[in-house]
Amino acid sequence: MKDLSIAPRYHQLREELVAEPRTWLVTGAAGFIGSNIVEELLGLGQQVVGLDNFSTGFAANLDDAAGAHRADGRFRFVEGDIRDLTRCREACAGVDYVIHEAALASVPESIADPIESAQVNVDGTINMLVAARDAGVRRFVYASSSAVYGDTTAIPAREGVTGQLLSPYAATKATNEMYAALFQRTYGLHTVGLRYFNVFGRRQDPNGAYAAVIPRWVDKLLADEPCEIYGDGETTRDFCYVSDVVQANLLAATVCDESATGQAYNVACGAETSLNELFQMIQSGLTRYHPAVADARPRYQSARQGDIRRSVADIARARAALGYMPVFHAATGLAQALKWYASRAQSLGPKAASA
Ligand code: NAD
Repeated sequence: MKDLSIAPRYHQLREELVAEPRTWLVTGAAGFIGSNIVEELLGLGQQVVGLDNFSTGFAANLDDAAGAHRADGRFRFVEGDIRDLTRCREACAGVDYVIHEAALASVPESIADPIESAQVNVDGTINMLVAARDAGVRRFVYASSSAVYGDTTAIPAREGVTGQLLSPYAATKATNEMYAALFQRTYGLHTVGLRYFNVFGRRQDPNGAYAAVIPRWVDKLLADEPCEIYGDGETTRDFCYVSDVVQANLLAATVCDESATGQAYNVACGAETSLNELFQMIQSGLTRYHPAVADARPRYQSARQGDIRRSVADIARARAALGYMPVFHAATGLAQALKWYASRAQSLGPKAASA
């Protein structure tokens, strides 16, 4: 298998995994990122356990990612809540690697309900760390976030320099990093945190009040509705295609060098894209599926309080320590994602397809 769209270290790892399959637990398996990780692992012949309570995830994501493998016994699903330690232990039994994605990922919802945010993201993660420790798993990889950089104006964001946190969600992710490092020091559980920047791709939910910008705009453009840009559109983000996030997770779980563990790494594309550029990319990419999109113009609104102006990651540490090498940039990732959103709109029937 020679695929030039796969980074060299990752290419080698995939071959190793195919030759010697292992058992993985993915929490948040019915969510956007979790279901993409499940799909890749099953495609590589691994045994996979999924854990989810469907609070923001969907059974359809699991069917899409794992449906074909339920029958061959390589996928086991535990429906449960990470706030329930018994369920966490059940899911961790016999597992080599834990990939912990389950969380309440919405910043505005964490501001509305900081207690539930902490119960799921902090208490739930501590349950998962305890269950993983007691099950003797080899590695615990977990989703952190660029939110831990808070209001820092350092550009690009480097792992050692963080600012004042701007939301309860950010506080939960920073707390996860502290606990994970602590579990490594205190109990010898090897942990790796991955600070995702703006992840996008297939199965990212376009619905809900707090949907991420790419699926929200795609949905609006396909429905001939205006897209809103807060501020002048020169706000930048580091948009990272989900396949590169999957790559980072598998590399982090299996990295041989133990000095790479006990830390958190930026996972991003490593390049800035402004919202104006993003709108143009989405518009030109969608026009082939829905020609009316060519005439769409964004609607500019006043800037939102708390939005940082620029966000871009330095990914040198993940490159050096994990062998991470993103193979998509925003435009090539978008081409993949738009294909998926367009086919989804078709399959949802005439209203969505013609919209
Ligand atoms: P998502 O909402 O699609 O997935 C989260 C999954 O966790 C869902 O399937 C949900 O049902 C499940 N879940 C939530 N609470 C649970 C609980 N109590 N018990 C069991 N399962 C529960 O979100 P996502 O975008 O796939 O995010 C995955 C992880 O990545 C999260 O930890 C999130 O904070 C982090 N992250 C995401 C981004 C991004 O751009 N998408 C950026 C930074 C960090």
